[in-house]
Amino acid sequence: MLRVGLTGGIGSGKSTVAGRLAEHGAVLIDADKLAREVVQPGTPGLAAVVEAFGAEVLAPDGSLDRPKLAAVVFNSAEQRERLNGIVHPLVGRRTAEMLASAADDAVVVHDVPLLVEKNYAPMYHLVVVVDADVEERVRRLAETRGMSPQDARARIAAQATVEQRRAVADVWLDNSSTPDRVLAQADALWADRLVPFEANVRLRRWGRYGNPRLYDYNAEWPLQAARLAARIELVTGGLRVDHIGSTAVPGLPAKDIIDLQVTVSSLDQADGFAEPLTAAGFPVRPENTGDRGKETKRYHNCADPGRLANIHLRVEGSEDWRNALLFRDWLRASVEERASYVQLKQGIAKRFASAGDLAEVATAKDAWFDSALPRAQAWAEATGWQP
Ligand code: ADP
Repeated sequence: MLRVGLTGGIGSGKSTVAGRLAEHGAVLIDADKLAREVVQPGTPGLAAVVEAFGAEVLAPDGSLDRPKLAAVVFNSAEQRERLNGIVHPLVGRRTAEMLASAADDAVVVHDVPLLVEKNYAPMYHLVVVVDADVEERVRRLAETRGMSPQDARARIAAQATVEQRRAVADVWLDNSSTPDRVLAQADALWADRLVPFEANVRLRRWGRYGNPRLYDYNAEWPLQAARLAARIELVTGGLRVDHIGSTAVPGLPAKDIIDLQVTVSSLDQADGFAEPLTAAGFPVRPENTGDRGKETKRYHNCADPGRLANIHLRVEGSEDWRNALLFRDWLRASVEERASYVQLKQGIAKRFASAGDLAEVATAKDAWFDSALPRAQAWAEATGWQP
């Protein structure tokens, strides 16, 4: 099963995208819809609301009078918390039930308006954000929901900012243009990413590596690394996760593969996370458990075909653990050393462009690191660097 979090500001087109993904076969869990269902007439949810806020929040037909309830909780954080304390656990239970009843090979799309505000992003294999220009959203909300421009703007201002949404978005769908554009993007997302990602998670496969092609440094890499790290931190109960390797050094060209190092206290501890990490979309690779022939780490990849990653679980204080952090910080600090490393990488890219023999590439790189290590050590001593 693949869990996809879908969010976006009010009027951005989130429901439009959700509907399209459902047409393709996604199992849709709509948080807003569940929040309405759990307080339908005759539910224990509505009874609890009436007990807390009085019968005056009911309409004459016995259903919940939402505007009235909104007026009661609007100006009081305490009352809002009280309402949330009733509704959220009920929605949580329904969500868990729907997840439990979804098929093994389901792509579950969880439409959550407040995903960013609530920091839910790390719970999903992938987060999709739908966005549109504010003025366009105001216009659509007026046209389709009869909302006044002031009301629409006030609601938009109360939600997460574009920057906050960008930080958690693995996929960003711009819906500022015509609906057919965003629907075409949703179609491509389904076919090219969600379907293969789901299969990879279920079959414990990872994105395939191609040639060691070098890309110019991409300022998105640290953000992508942070999103993967947040997922790993959640699964491992807060282990230290560092972005390492070439994509962690600003200015360095690199293969488009994120390297992360997870700090474990022992390889036994790492083995305990093999299954939870695999389920979270980071399948364990039983091979490649050593650096230079020694059994020094556990190795995972990312099942997302749109985001290749190597995840190294290494023991705190071990030589390779320390060196991974040292090389990153040393290369970040030195322009000349970065240039020398770039030269090596470009040479490798040329030599192995067609063969793509990653073992040979690793050997060529190891040789450079061996010769560079004394210089990095000297830098660490001179600067008082600590891992
Ligand atoms: P959300 O769920 O994010 O609040 P919706 O998907 O309900 O947003 O979209 C808000 C309104 O705008 C809906 O009535 C929808 O039909 C309409 N809409 C969505 N996308 C577009 C678009 N690209 N151009 C014009 N109207 C759109």
